[in-house]
Amino acid sequence: MQKNLVMGNWKLNGNKNEIHTFLNDLNLIIQGYDKCEVSVAFPVMYLDYASQILSELKSNIKLGAQNADTHNQGAYTGDISPKMLKELNVQLVIIGHSERREYHSESNELIAQKFKALQEIGLTPVLCIGESEEQNENGETLSILAKQLDAVINLNGINSMQKAVIAYEPIWAIGTGKAATANQAQEIHNAIRNHLASYSKEVAENVIIQYGGSVKPENAEEFFKMNDINGALVGGASLKAESFAGIVKS
Ligand code: 13P
Repeated sequence: MQKNLVMGNWKLNGNKNEIHTFLNDLNLIIQGYDKCEVSVAFPVMYLDYASQILSELKSNIKLGAQNADTHNQGAYTGDISPKMLKELNVQLVIIGHSERREYHSESNELIAQKFKALQEIGLTPVLCIGESEEQNENGETLSILAKQLDAVINLNGINSMQKAVIAYEPIWAIGTGKAATANQAQEIHNAIRNHLASYSKEVAENVIIQYGGSVKPENAEEFFKMNDINGALVGGASLKAESFAGIVKS
């Protein structure tokens, strides 16, 4: 089994000053701590800057990005390619976040293509999946998650999942302060693993599955105690070094 991964997602927040302070503080607080992998995905504008700071600090924090296009070059105005991210020392790229599915109408098929493009260039996709509150109430959670996973598996094959991270983020828990309980999340993570096991037991056992949605220093430990929860994808609480480090050390 690989190490757990705690990843911050800064979304559309922050500026150079804040990133400078955050990375210096975080690096200091978690220095020598190697129980889990740590990554932060900053807005794309600041990745080059963050990359320089991380290399000056000789930090183990892995640089993340929040999105990528399916193409590496060409007439795609406004898009950012996996190749460009790689040049900036990005290692992990969040794809399929519910905010991109909702505000940019990203389909399961497009996300599967992004997954492919990232792996082809040697970047690790962090594939976000999750159901809405309505889908949850209608008992559709597992079928929605299966569809989101199957689109990626159909295009890329089950073994591709071994070199990726899955982030289960129930939409109703994102930014609401209303996290799933650790037991609820464990149940879903176990179902995700069982679904993957129907393709390959080995992949199911080894893939990292993070929980995301209102994770804080106060509740992180509960999640991390669970067998099938291998880390967290953190929004709001990743914006301050102290609170993010609190989650890392949980
Ligand atoms: P919050 O931690 O702010 O709920 O956001 C979760 C998230 O969307 C991370 O990708």
